[in-house]
Amino acid sequence: MRLPVKFTTLGDEIAIEEREVDGLGCFDTATGAIAIHPAQHPVGKLITLVHEAMHVGESTLGFEIDHDYIEGAAFGVAAILIEAGAIEGLTSDDLRAFIREQQKGAE
Ligand SMILES: [Zn+2]
Repeated sequence: MRLPVKFTTLGDEIAIEEREVDGLGCFDTATGAIAIHPAQHPVGKLITLVHEAMHVGESTLGFEIDHDYIEGAAFGVAAILIEAGAIEGLTSDDLRAFIREQQKGAE
């Protein structure tokens, strides 16, 4: 993932950067900034980015998405993008390593 990045969605500029935050990431609706905590597995960073992008969608489109849905969908979308080879530098092996890491952490 190459950060920082800036893009515009329906008129709002969104800036994405890596920096230390509480939790894995956050979307600040006041500044339009997404922060991704740097101390996580690269697959985790992608999942966090997709997660926060869904919060951007909520803010931009003006409705709330169930947070459990966001959690599940962020993992699913990230996994599909990795498996499809759409994410430079991340492979199926990285995804499996991340899943094993999560399962060990849950034990
Ligand atoms: Zn969230």
